[in-house]
Amino acid sequence: MQRASPASFREAASRFATGVTVLTALDEHGRVCGMTANSFVTVSLSPPTVLVSVKPGRVHRAISATGRYCVNVLPDHGRELSRHFASQPNTGATPDCEIVDGLPRLQGCLAYFACEVIQYVDVSDHTLIIAEVSTCDHRDTTPLVFFSSRYHRGAGVPVER
Ligand SMILES: Cc1cc2nc3c(=O)[nH]c(=O)nc-3n(C[C@H](O)[C@H](O)[C@H](O)COP(=O)(O)OP(=O)(O)OC[C@H]3O[C@@H](n4cnc5c(N)ncnc54)[C@H](O)[C@@H]3O)c2cc1C
Repeated sequence: MQRASPASFREAASRFATGVTVLTALDEHGRVCGMTANSFVTVSLSPPTVLVSVKPGRVHRAISATGRYCVNVLPDHGRELSRHFASQPNTGATPDCEIVDGLPRLQGCLAYFACEVIQYVDVSDHTLIIAEVSTCDHRDTTPLVFFSSRYHRGAGVPVER
């Protein structure tokens, strides 16, 4: 089978605009950890099911140990949070978060999803982590968007229906 080159794949994939989330979890010592992720996908409405694609690291270990994670959707002013949680290694102080029902929730997010893992699927160097959503909430404000390898503010201009 022919394979797209990594460079052209990366360039083409970057044209798929996404929101930006931070996955948070408690590690095996009960410490908060988090990572920036734009692979968040809603899989089904009933039961409410989502997936994220996570590469090995501290957050992967924390989720595997506890079977739980929280998806925090970043608002338009969340660029620094995104950078913080994409750092390697992410050792800085954890930004403001509260523990709700045993899961860390970042303050000021657009939406959150508390997730209970139902399946792990290893694909090359990532794991698809599929989960049911136990609780979620949202507020009406504008999102942070990742497009063409850059951050953008807002939801764009609505197209007429
Ligand atoms: C906009 C944006 C979107 C992103 N979306 C995603 C996403 O959807 N999924 C995703 O996985 N990442 C994504 N990243 C990258 C991710 O945020 C960073 O890699 C982050 O540092 C991971 O945090 P961590 O604490 O889990 O990893 P750390 O423990 O800090 O490890 C850092 C990196 O070291 C490597 N590493 C660590 N331990 C191992 C091990 N045992 N075996 C092999 N390699 C290892 C991995 O590459 C790992 O990501 C995104 C980054 C950005 C900016």
